Amino acid sequence: MDLKTSAQYIKGVGPARFELLNRLGIHTVGDLLYYFPRAYEDRRNIRSISELEEGSFATVKAEVVKASLRRSRSGMAIFQVVVNDNTGVLEAIWFNQPFMKRYITPGQAVILYGKIEKHNGLQMQSPEFESVSDSEESLNIGRIVPVYPLTAKLNQRYLRKIITRGLESSCSFVPDVLPHILRKKLELLPLALAVRNIHFPDDFDLQGGAYKRLVFDEFFMLQILLRIKKLRQEGKDKAIVHKKEGELIEKFTKTLPFKLTLGQEHAIKEIESDMTSGKTMNRLLQGDVGSGKTIVATHALVLSVQSGFQATVMAPTEILAEQHYLLLSKMLMPLGVNVGILIGSMSKQVKEETLEDIKAGNLDVIVGTHALIEGNIQFKNLGLVVIDEQHKFGVVQRSLLRKKGINPDYLIMTATPIPRTLALTVYGDLDVSSIKELPQGRGVVSTIAIEQEATERVYAFIREEVKKERQAYIVYPLVKESTALETRAAEQMYSRFKEKEFRNLRVGLIHGQMKAQEKEKVMREFKAGKTDVLVSTTVIEVGIDVANASVMVIEHAERFGLSQLHQLRGRIGRGKHHSYCILIANPETDKAKQRIDALLSTSDGFQLAEQDLDIRGPGQFFGSAQHGLPELKIGNIVKDMALMELARTEASSLLKADPGLQDSQHLSIRKQLKERFRYTDLSLTTG
Ligand code: ADP
Ligand code: MG
Repeated sequence: MDLKTSAQYIKGVGPARFELLNRLGIHTVGDLLYYFPRAYEDRRNIRSISELEEGSFATVKAEVVKASLRRSRSGMAIFQVVVNDNTGVLEAIWFNQPFMKRYITPGQAVILYGKIEKHNGLQMQSPEFESVSDSEESLNIGRIVPVYPLTAKLNQRYLRKIITRGLESSCSFVPDVLPHILRKKLELLPLALAVRNIHFPDDFDLQGGAYKRLVFDEFFMLQILLRIKKLRQEGKDKAIVHKKEGELIEKFTKTLPFKLTLGQEHAIKEIESDMTSGKTMNRLLQGDVGSGKTIVATHALVLSVQSGFQATVMAPTEILAEQHYLLLSKMLMPLGVNVGILIGSMSKQVKEETLEDIKAGNLDVIVGTHALIEGNIQFKNLGLVVIDEQHKFGVVQRSLLRKKGINPDYLIMTATPIPRTLALTVYGDLDVSSIKELPQGRGVVSTIAIEQEATERVYAFIREEVKKERQAYIVYPLVKESTALETRAAEQMYSRFKEKEFRNLRVGLIHGQMKAQEKEKVMREFKAGKTDVLVSTTVIEVGIDVANASVMVIEHAERFGLSQLHQLRGRIGRGKHHSYCILIANPETDKAKQRIDALLSTSDGFQLAEQDLDIRGPGQFFGSAQHGLPELKIGNIVKDMALMELARTEASSLLKADPGLQDSQHLSIRKQLKERFRYTDLSLTTG
């Protein structure tokens, strides 16, 4: 038997059981060995019955003194056993399992494991049991016992049994991908020992060692794969080489209205070096809300235009596209750069004219929404693609825009920053720049959570802030009220505010169901200070930048995700004023409470992303559309980040030394790439 043998050939696996195993993803013996426990139970210490404590789990070794099967009044079979270990007696009881009678008879020595309860005397209900005379090595008792994820009709005892059989017959065949020297250097367990101890550890140290070894293997192969893909990408592209020096960039730099932060300067350097190099830029720029990513992107746009290319920026909403358009026009038009905009709600005629201008090269910088990838847009010579708030787009949408040019440089931006190692893994073939600090001179943002009953006080507070000439946002989860959800909604509250709480103020309304032109008008008025209070939905979540706004009220805050809340909070504190984010919420679920607590505890986007990952788990956090990572069997990219870092370093130095994986020690890596990831294109990294 080797690892590719069908699991059906293991003793105890018939056709019916085999089908059940298939449901768990187990087809071959190899699958079985790599079907890992989700937890362990420590059943090593055999306890005297006299010292058992109610409520605890314990293992007991004793003699059966009585065994009887009876029926309850409702007809249920009750199998009752009394055991004695010379320190005391204990009752074990099984419901609906009359067949137990065949396994347990008086006079026999047994080992029992279960939770201790008190019913007249000490009792265990449906304990795990093992006959002491069982010839097979005890799998379920008297040791650390694995607990597997199950499917209906398969139980723990059965899986333990067949996994042991698989281990006995085939454990020595598990191929070791790690070069011996590397394994020694990192002091990792030999693979066969690790596989054995992940299932049936002799002690928890060995279990830890086994876990580390197997997670490292998994991450290592992942990093090798990512690295190879990246090298291949870089090798293939014929890159656009942008010019670094020039009049335009000089003028632009002089017109900057503020001094750049160190993070911004650093990011600009990295981008500049990519764009002017002979390889295509593939870069993620991550920075917290308000860290000033736009200006960094603008620098890149100018570099591209100065080198005679067109550059484009795609944003997820029309409001944001419009805002970028206004800003870029203001900054770049005076320098002679032609800026255009393309969004879905433009009239057909204007759209067509714009498309003409793009094709003819009359526009240098084109800002837009999805509209950029929907129509048959043709650029004259696209040199740079920027994607703002990239997490709002899918992988396909992002790459579509790129394909509108020939290997344009590519910059994607996100305000949901994650730790670097994670970013490098999740965004595989991208380089990462991070802006860690916010520009100086920003006012403090206080975050407050209050219960719904106190909202009137919040409205009073808004009136006071408006007296000081500040502006406020009030955000609702819905546009219209829904009786089913008992939720306040933007439209109704807008009408109410105008007549009641804010009848002396200027109130605006904005939401996703409004026409683009209306939204635009409302946003312009708010930005110009002609509106005091803007009632809104999450359409203002991304990107919106109004420095005078100092209050963000979020009603029903429990209904928003953590990153959404953080983004909304990022709309204030953009100027020098002290700002207030007020969360109105009556959170009922633990997760909702955790989200609100997280928001109160920090305003650092990196930390919040980590907490969000923790609350939601990596799968939910990233969503499947966001990345193309292979599924991980054992490692957790968040909890095991240190191992990921290690795997990354080692994978990278191994490929540096042997890019084509030609060394005889690296053949099994090659083989695994082919078999596990069906990855065969190693050609470009050879030699
Ligand atoms: P985000 O990273 O969230 O996209 P923006 O690019 O919208 O942030 O910048 C937020 C605000 O900070 C803008 O009003 C911008 O003009 C301002 N800003 C950016 N960089 C600096 C800086 N170095 N000093 C002062 N203000 C800055
Ligand atoms: Mg932004």
